[in-house]
Amino acid sequence: MEHIGYNLTQDQISLRDRARHIANEYIKPRSEEIDKKGEFPWDIQNAFKEEGFFGIGIPKEYGGSERGALACALVLEEIARVCTNSVIICGQAILGTKMIVGAGSHEQKSKYLPPVARGEMIAAVAMTEPEAGSDSAALRTRAVKKGNEYVLNGTKLWITNSDVCDLFTAFAKTDPEKGRAGISAFIIDRDTPGVTVGKHEDKMGSTAIHSCEVVFEDCVVPEENLVGEEGEGFLIAGRLFGETRYITASRAIGLARGVLDYTVEFVKENKINSELTNSKVAEMATKIEAGRHLLYKACCEVERRSKDSRIRVSMAKYFCSSVAVEVPIIALEILGKHGYTPKYPIERMMCDAKVTQIAEGTSQIQCAIIGGALSRGEFYH
Ligand SMILES: Cc1cc2nc3c(=O)[nH]c(=O)nc-3n(C[C@H](O)[C@H](O)[C@H](O)COP(=O)(O)OP(=O)(O)OC[C@H]3O[C@@H](n4cnc5c(N)ncnc54)[C@H](O)[C@@H]3O)c2cc1C
Repeated sequence: MEHIGYNLTQDQISLRDRARHIANEYIKPRSEEIDKKGEFPWDIQNAFKEEGFFGIGIPKEYGGSERGALACALVLEEIARVCTNSVIICGQAILGTKMIVGAGSHEQKSKYLPPVARGEMIAAVAMTEPEAGSDSAALRTRAVKKGNEYVLNGTKLWITNSDVCDLFTAFAKTDPEKGRAGISAFIIDRDTPGVTVGKHEDKMGSTAIHSCEVVFEDCVVPEENLVGEEGEGFLIAGRLFGETRYITASRAIGLARGVLDYTVEFVKENKINSELTNSKVAEMATKIEAGRHLLYKACCEVERRSKDSRIRVSMAKYFCSSVAVEVPIIALEILGKHGYTPKYPIERMMCDAKVTQIAEGTSQIQCAIIGGALSRGEFYH
């Protein structure tokens, strides 16, 4: 019979409880200030560093603790519950190194993974371009081989953490004639001559974590920084980033839990008639619980490397981000006028939630992935 459940191990429970403790004691009191200030919170980076949270997605052999997707999701959920900026710091360490972990050479892993695991290096992913968002195969950045080096030229947009990072996994066309089969992946040190990080975008949420333009101009990258083979970049990205979408799903469900926590407290403190609010908080809690189960199940399938794990992760991302957007709207109905002012956190959480339906592939793209798999008979058996 198919294994449909999951049990948390003692290690996962301990890690989750540790993340919950840091979130409640250290991050929560600062989350509003972090967002108002709009600057990268280096003290949170240091706190995660001390806890070893940057190594949870990295193999032990390369300095990480390799905890698996479910443990990572539990940590991210706890942090997102109190701060949507801080959770990105942790999530980016998993996302930014995924190409190296999943497809890098031993030399690449040995050079880049240990410092990221120790929290001494920050990694970013540079895919999106002015003409290439959902359709990442349309990217125009070029990488031309000259001797044993590649010369990169092109512009990336909305690259999260690019103003604080030390390395990019970036995608460029080595053979434009071949379309997606002509896309290759590179590791680029941020201090490489020809790399310029521009000003950050003004965002409606998570304002302390910046997403910026990144320009590569005659940027010379040694051939040993090619990840996989030439022309494999798109294929590998599809495979690996298809799995990492649980990161955004965890952010989404954690945020929704934060909204629920706040609303329940608000109802108690303001002695609002629970007969009026029970149906709304019940709706919020039930949606969150459904999302969590979908998410945890998807993470288990990622760990088991099951053939439909990416479809399940897309379902979790699609559903959890919808919950994240719906739950603050329900909360706002309970809070009434208080929900409609930045004096109370629901307004901020509502803005923070929306990005979970955009980043790591929009909801429409998740639907295209799920619908495509169903029509090909690749799911439900
Ligand atoms: C806060 C933030 C951080 C980000 N960080 C990074 C980062 O670190 N690195 C990086 O590379 N990128 C990053 N991005 C970019 C992100 O990956 C893209 O925004 C995302 O892929 C969607 O692309 P787009 O915004 O260009 O929308 P578009 O692709 O222009 O889509 C616009 C609309 O059309 C819909 N649509 C497009 N194609 C289809 C289709 N085939 N079927 C159905 N509907 C479709 C979309 O769902 C969307 O609703 C970030 C974006 C944000 C907002």
